[in-house]
Amino acid sequence: MCSHSPEPAGPSGVVRVVVLVKQVPAVTQVSVDEVTGNLLRAGVRSVMNPYDLFALEAALRLRDSEVARVTAVSMGPPKAREVLKYALALGVDDAVLLTDQAFAGSDTWATSAVLQAAVRRLGPEVILCGRQAIDGDTGQVPLELAVRLSVPCVTRVLAIEAVDRETVVVRRRVEGFEEVVESVVPAVLTVEEKSCTPRLPTLEGISVVGGRRPVVFGARELGLDPADVGSLGSPTRVVSVRPALPAGGGIILEGSPETQVRELVRRLNDAGCFAPHPGEA
Ligand code: FAD
Repeated sequence: MCSHSPEPAGPSGVVRVVVLVKQVPAVTQVSVDEVTGNLLRAGVRSVMNPYDLFALEAALRLRDSEVARVTAVSMGPPKAREVLKYALALGVDDAVLLTDQAFAGSDTWATSAVLQAAVRRLGPEVILCGRQAIDGDTGQVPLELAVRLSVPCVTRVLAIEAVDRETVVVRRRVEGFEEVVESVVPAVLTVEEKSCTPRLPTLEGISVVGGRRPVVFGARELGLDPADVGSLGSPTRVVSVRPALPAGGGIILEGSPETQVRELVRRLNDAGCFAPHPGEA
C-alpha cells in the first residue's frame, strides 16, 4: 500500500512538522445513517476542513523561513487524497494518506489511535491541528492524540514565535488577552481560526502537484491491530441524531412597565409556568 516513506526526521537544525488535515463535506446539510448515526458522505462534495487551513498556513510559514520540513497527514477514505493534493499545491514537502477499510467507523478515540501511529512513524517535533472539524465538531482529536503520545497540547495558538528541536514558543489566545507559552517538543498545537490569512495555491504549485501523489499507509504499515481502530476500536457510538429545533420567535411587550409585567405574568400563567403554592387547590 505504501509507495515510499517521507524522511523520518529533518536534517540537523530543521524541525519536522506534521499538519493534520481532515476532509469534510462542503455542505452543512448532510444526511445521517439512521442505524449507525454516521454522516452519509457518498456523493457529497468535499473540501479541506476550513480550520485546518490556518494550521497549514502556520506550518508553511515555518517552511518559508527554512526552519521546518512539513508533512500533511489525513485519515479518511481514498478520496481524502484530494485535500492532500491541495496541501501539496500550497507547498508542503510531503503528504501521507491514512486509509484502510479497518479504519471505517472510527470515533474520535480510534481516529487518534491511527493518527498516533502515523505520528510515531514520522517522528515530528511539532504536530499542528485545526481547532475543530466542521462536521464531527468535537475538537477532541488533538487532545486525545496528545494523551496517546504523552506529549503536551497547547491550544488556541495564534503564532509560532520560535521552534527548534528542543522547544517551541507560541503566542496563544486566552479570554481577553494573549499569552506566550514555551513547551518542550514533541508537542501538539491547535491553531486558532483567523490567526493568519491562509495562502492560495499558485499556478506553479498546481502544476507541480500534478505529478505528485500522497504516500499511503494502511493498518499494516502502521502496525495497527484492526481491533484497536475503526468501529471495533471505538468506545463511543452515536445513539441518535436529529435536527436541532429552530429557536422560537420572541415577542415584544408594549406599554408601561406595569402593563408589560402584568402581560408577562398572564402569559406565563397561561403557559402553566407557575406551580401552585403548597396547600393551594
Ligand atoms: P475534531 O476533533 O473536531 O478535529 C480537530 C482537528 O483534528 C482537525 O482540525 C484536524 O486537524 C484533526 N483531525 C480530526 N480528524 C482528522 C482526520 N480524520 N485526519 C486528519 N486530521 C484530523 N467519520 C467518518 O469519516 N467515517 C466513519 O465511518 C465514521 N464513523 C464514526 C463512528 C462513530 C461511532 C463516531 C462517534 C464517529 C464516526 N465518525 C466517522 C466521525 C469521526 O470519528 C470524526 O469525524 C473524527 O474522529 C474526527 O472528529 P471530529 O470531526 O470531531 O474532529
